[in-house]
Amino acid sequence: MPTIEELINKFASAGLSGLALDIDSTSADTAYILVEKGFEEFGNPYNMSARDVIEQYRYLQDIPFWPHDKIEEFINYWCYNSDFQKDIPLIERASEFIWKIDAIIKILLHLSARPPIVYPGTYYWMQNKDIPKVDLRFSTPEEGHLNNRNEYKARELLELYPYILGIIDDHPELLSYFPYDYEGTIFVFDYKEKHTHPRAICCSDWEHTFYEVKKRFAV
Ligand SMILES: [Mg+2]
Repeated sequence: MPTIEELINKFASAGLSGLALDIDSTSADTAYILVEKGFEEFGNPYNMSARDVIEQYRYLQDIPFWPHDKIEEFINYWCYNSDFQKDIPLIERASEFIWKIDAIIKILLHLSARPPIVYPGTYYWMQNKDIPKVDLRFSTPEEGHLNNRNEYKARELLELYPYILGIIDDHPELLSYFPYDYEGTIFVFDYKEKHTHPRAICCSDWEHTFYEVKKRFAV
């Protein structure tokens, strides 16, 4: 896995700048797959579709009809399984619009808060999905996986600026670690509400994300 220093040196010497992409629930439909697995494990008392569950609760930890004391263990089981990552499907239309975005401003990095142990499975995934084959980095140290993940990621994005000019990421909490004078852009993916951070651009889906990226970066 490339270090931050290696990435900075590489981008600087090649004169590159571009965007980073989050993986889970941004390019990869991880939550959907996990909700399906959760139905098998914990049940689906209201007969909801996995899509409706994500739409309504967004995070697995917030699904009220699953046992709270078991959800974290369940998430960890899959999150730490490298083979599981290999074939997680892409989010609907993600590939199409990621490539359209890439034609306007280069996607330079897949930046995730996954635990380091699933790097090989994730690398395999990137190589085998129709997305840019670029650097892949996990920003979270082994012990900090579930706590402070957004703080670690924000710190790295701040270090990577101005080579990495922003990220497309589904987690609105990420914004809370960026100072208001950050000059990059955080495209908050699949987020229909407003966000108060001046550098947040909320995007409802991939088509909308493309529209907003184009507005800012097309020459
Ligand atoms: Mg995510």
